[in-house]
Amino acid sequence: SVKTSGKGSFRFFDQQFYEALRQQLEFEQELRRAIEHDEFVVHYQPRMDLASSRATSMEALVRWLHPRRGLLEPAEFIPLAEKTGMIVRLGELVLGKVCGQLAQWAAREANVVPVSVNISSRQFNETDIARVFSGAMARHNVAPSLLEIELTESSMMGGSSHVLESLSKIRAMGIKLLVDDFGTGYSSLAQLQLLDFDVLKVDKAFTSRIEQTEQGRILFAAIITMAHALGMRVVAEGVETGKQLSILRALRCDEVQGYFISLPQAAAEAQSVLLSPVA
Ligand code: C2E
Ligand code: MG
Ligand code: MG
Ligand code: MG
Repeated sequence: SVKTSGKGSFRFFDQQFYEALRQQLEFEQELRRAIEHDEFVVHYQPRMDLASSRATSMEALVRWLHPRRGLLEPAEFIPLAEKTGMIVRLGELVLGKVCGQLAQWAAREANVVPVSVNISSRQFNETDIARVFSGAMARHNVAPSLLEIELTESSMMGGSSHVLESLSKIRAMGIKLLVDDFGTGYSSLAQLQLLDFDVLKVDKAFTSRIEQTEQGRILFAAIITMAHALGMRVVAEGVETGKQLSILRALRCDEVQGYFISLPQAAAEAQSVLLSPVA
């Protein structure tokens, strides 16, 4: 450990260190318990098709309904869940909730759109994800055409044969594959083509640049051209202004998602968005 001049300051450092460690361990215990007791809810954020101005799909985004701290966003607990491996169990919990919700919507509502689920690379590496999906679909009697999978570039890069095999099994089942946060990770364009993805979701960093600079627009246009040439649809993430929306229309982007269209919302509110054109 670090040598300090005064004994007092060393003790102070020590105490802070142990306090931080204690808090981290406590949070880990809480997360473990939250998974056992299921303290999670799923919010849904629509993606809008620019041709029809209708929602074509919704993304499932998990929130932790913490007994003392209220509703926690993924940024506050997903990193710990990833680090500890709890993400595998949490991911299955989310998938179960989504399938249950889809079954309910399919039974009661006229407008049901597919739901995309964010999947961690650990779920791909440590489980048979195709089996996890077919199990959840069978339990809730949900058609594969109602599910989509979002994967980040980094999570599939250096793709082991196990991961590649899982991806092609999933696609053969009729579940669409989406690349999430495109442009932020290590990307290999060749690998994108190899893996046969259906949809490219371009990270919000690129969306915000289209109304700031000409280069930003040129870059986005090039991504769209590339994706279309590879047979993928393009979704702009993080659309926050009407100006961004009109530029994206002009660039022939296929779909948009973001606060300007709709916030992520509880299931009932998200469902009502499907009844009318969005923006
Ligand atoms: P993501 O998959 O890229 O999801 C999009 C995030 O951007 C969401 O944050 C969403 O609320 C936010 N967002 C949507 N529109 C806008 C906008 O117009 N402006 C801005 N600034 N942000 C917008 P959220 O819900 O906090 O989720 C953060 C991340 O946590 C997700 O990023 C995803 O990587 C992860 N995540 C969420 N749910 C799950 C899950 O069930 N499993 C796993 N493995 N990861 C999840
Ligand atoms: Mg996502
Ligand atoms: Mg994203
Ligand atoms: Mg993200």
